[in-house]
Amino acid sequence: MTWKVEVDEHTCIGSGMCASLMPELFELDGPVAHPLADTVAPDETALDAADSCPAMAITITDGAEVVGPRP
Ligand code: SF4
Repeated sequence: MTWKVEVDEHTCIGSGMCASLMPELFELDGPVAHPLADTVAPDETALDAADSCPAMAITITDGAEVVGPRP
């Protein structure tokens, strides 16, 4: 199974939190972050990044349901 990772560039405030937590998946590109890959193997750190985003700009789905950020 892979997870789909998206960053809403209209919501991202460019805090860099995600890139600090998981630089292999997120990169700051100017004022906003973007995922370096569209999909990722299930990974707790990816969920931590989604949970930690101050703008709730990261969405991770497993194909059917949103798995991150966690409620
Ligand atoms: S943690 Fe959220 S607000 Fe900060 S750079 Fe990443 S996506 Fe943008």
